[in-house]
Parts: sequence; C-alpha cells; structure tokens
Amino acid sequence: MTGRPARAQLARSAILAAIAAVVAFEAYELAESPGSQIFGRTLVSGPKNERVVALTYDDGPNPPYTDGILDVLRRERVHATFFVVGQAVKAYPGVVRREVREGNAVGNHTWSHEHLVLDDPQALRDTLQRTDGAIFAATGTHSRIMRPPFGGRDWLVLDEVRKLGYTPVMWSVPLAKDWEYPPASVIAQRVLRYVGDGSIVVLHDGNRGIVCGTRVAPHVCDRSADVEATRLIVETLKREGYRFVTIPELLERGSADVTRTGARVGE
Ligand SMILES: [Zn+2]
Repeated sequence: MTGRPARAQLARSAILAAIAAVVAFEAYELAESPGSQIFGRTLVSGPKNERVVALTYDDGPNPPYTDGILDVLRRERVHATFFVVGQAVKAYPGVVRREVREGNAVGNHTWSHEHLVLDDPQALRDTLQRTDGAIFAATGTHSRIMRPPFGGRDWLVLDEVRKLGYTPVMWSVPLAKDWEYPPASVIAQRVLRYVGDGSIVVLHDGNRGIVCGTRVAPHVCDRSADVEATRLIVETLKREGYRFVTIPELLERGSADVTRTGARVGE
C-alpha cells in the first residue's frame, strides 16, 4: 500500500530537481553568454554605425596555420588581433613577432588556456603576467587586452583582470565551431550570416595553445580550414564595403559598444 505513493513522491522530486537544474543551467548560460555584462563590463563589439569588422584569432601561435592566416592578411592588406596562449608564445616567439611586425595586434589568452573561474586571484595574476612576459620577450611590447578562455568569467575574474590593466574582450558573432573541423566554406558561412557593422569575429589559429610537436596527432592542430575561411571572409566583406580593424583600434575610437548582442555562450 505504501509503495505506490512513495514511488510517486520520488518521481515528483526527480522531476522538480530536473526542472531546477534546467533553470540553473539557463541562468548560468545567460550570465556567461559573451554579451552578458552581469559580471562587469567587457568589450563585445565595435560601433554599430560604422562598416568595420574586427577579426580575432584565439589559441595560437600554431605554425604553419598561423603563418597561413598571416599570409592571407598580408596579401589582402588587412589586420587582425591574435589572442595568444603563453606556452605557445614561448614555443614559437617568431610567429608572434611576425604578427606584430605586420601590423596585427596581440592579446593575452592565459598561459595554458585554463578556465579563470577555477583559478584563485594569485593564480589568475600569475597566468596573465607570465603570458605577458612571453609576449614581451617575443615582441618587445606589452598587451593591454585579454580574452578569457571559454569566455569563462565572474566578478572576481573581471575585477582582477581590470586591476592588472587589461580590457577583457568578448565577441558579437556566434562562434563558428571551427574546433569541430568543418570545411572552410561552412566556417565562412557561419560567420558571414551574423556579421554586421562593428562585429567582433572569433576564429581559431590553434587548439587551446597546445604545442604540436611529435607527441600530438597532427589533426589536433590542423587549422587549414581557418586559413581558407579567412580568405573567404575577407574577400566577401571587402566586396560588401567593410574595413578591418584591430581590437586596440576599436578601443582607440572610443565608440566601442558593450551592449548585449545575439551571440551565444562561449565554448
Ligand atoms: Zn581559447
């Protein structure tokens, strides 16, 4: 006699717990979405009334793919911003030097692509400062922009980041999921579908800063589709009258926008 009500009660609790989990996840997604300003101000896009786009590349340097992207940018006479991972900068300082020499901007993407929400304040300072040291050793310049890996941030993270003098940079165009290795045309389509005035676009020239030597399977670091997608995106947007700016150029204009966009949660 008591079995049935107990089971019903159990089922009901399970359903309520599931609903609570979904609500919590939705709230978390909303807070962590790239346009969210709940945890503090970040740069999400440029001016919405100017035909400019900022291309950004995360997780490198990663030769020869970073070089391939640099070749396209140089040929097209446009500049981009590279959010580099410290351990990869240490391995390939020459690539980062070339990024800067050819007029591109460099940003800090931590030492080993860790999720900053899991770091205590000291570890957070260490990972950014160590990366800054590698960038300075490679280029002779310091960067004042950073992007948190996975877009992961909270109040503490953004507070520390600001105290170190960095502007945190997110993005406005939903991620093209280039880490799933789609063809270049698919990456380009996913980006071009959402690009508008002042957009900040994210592509990847590396894979979480992994230094691809002999011990890593070659496909893990293969970003050839991003090289080709860069060419397609730049050619298309140039035809549509867009100019390409770096993130520091966007910030210097002083009209950068931090309002919410249609972008989805970072991965
Ligand atoms: Zn990343």
